[in-house]
Amino acid sequence: MLTIPPLITETERELLQNLIANAKRILICGHRGPDGDAVGSALGWADYLKRLGKETVVMMPNPFPDFLRWLPGIQDITFYMRHETEATQAIKNCDLVFCLDFNALHRLMEMGDVIAAHNAPRVIIDHHLNPDRNAAALTISHPQMCSTCEVVLRLLLQLGGYEDMGNRAAAALYTGMMTDTGGFTYNSNSPEIYQLISLLLAKGIDKDKIYRNVFNTYSESRLRLTGYILYKKLDFYQDRRASIFTLTRSEMTRFNFIRGDAEGLVNMPLQVKGMRLSISLREDTERDVVRVSLRSVDDFPCNKMAEEFFNGGGHLNASGGELPFPLSEAVKTAERAIEAYAHLL
Ligand code: 5GP
Ligand code: MN
Repeated sequence: MLTIPPLITETERELLQNLIANAKRILICGHRGPDGDAVGSALGWADYLKRLGKETVVMMPNPFPDFLRWLPGIQDITFYMRHETEATQAIKNCDLVFCLDFNALHRLMEMGDVIAAHNAPRVIIDHHLNPDRNAAALTISHPQMCSTCEVVLRLLLQLGGYEDMGNRAAAALYTGMMTDTGGFTYNSNSPEIYQLISLLLAKGIDKDKIYRNVFNTYSESRLRLTGYILYKKLDFYQDRRASIFTLTRSEMTRFNFIRGDAEGLVNMPLQVKGMRLSISLREDTERDVVRVSLRSVDDFPCNKMAEEFFNGGGHLNASGGELPFPLSEAVKTAERAIEAYAHLL
């Protein structure tokens, strides 16, 4: 029988518990373009802090995708970009900051500048490579873990926060583990993950329903958008080992695009035999930039390509970034990136 080992050292545990004990109002934040893991880990961690009697504020730079709307407690999240003045004040009123599912403050955009200028101590809880340890009093970083939700659950087990955890927090943590692994189809070979899932199931979560809530609640027009992209917009390169597709704002309008509708599209070209790398280039709906998503299989390093060509980063098989120029230029950059990495394809 496997057992879940402690996540942090005794010294770190003491530091963390002291930071929490000395705080009254605690800010919990997730990255721009929050995904299931950012939102799930923030809600799961906030639930624990609330059970300790803390006042909590959960804040993200901008809204989450529509397919997470069903998550219990999600309506309490504040979006910095929608209410900058109030959000800035709320940040200044907090005396401890948790940074979940990101490794450096710049991933919060302007919200990160406000937090950097505020003198409350910060704690990073994350699973991305190369955390900015200088940005935090304590860094709990585990890149080998499938999700920040996994890190949070292990932390709760160690701190004694599991016993009283309810169904809602368990659902939030399961959601992040599920979304960051594509429904446990990648980055999910650690046996301990399934023990952790078992602990969440013991809280009465309906994992099949969670799967449907996240992956099978799209609109008809999203399904047609998928067909359109695969039929009309997908170009293959390097003997079908890499692909690029683009998505413009006007196409989004045509297909009644709502936040989250692009999720998962970038994985689809990898269904073709022999494919190693998929790149999606999407016009941002809020700013004049092109959002880049990269997905790969096996050892192709998306994160290196994202850093080198797309002002971004991420994980080995899933990374992202952005380019500050028009889509046509972005395509040229992506083609250059594929050319430069041809030897790894
Ligand atoms: P997605 O393609 O779903 O937007 O992002 C996939 C992964 O890439 C994220 O989980 C995150 O780790 C990373 N990522 C996405 N966008 C950025 C970015 O702009 N900068 C960095 N450093 N990482 C990103
Ligand atoms: Mn994550």
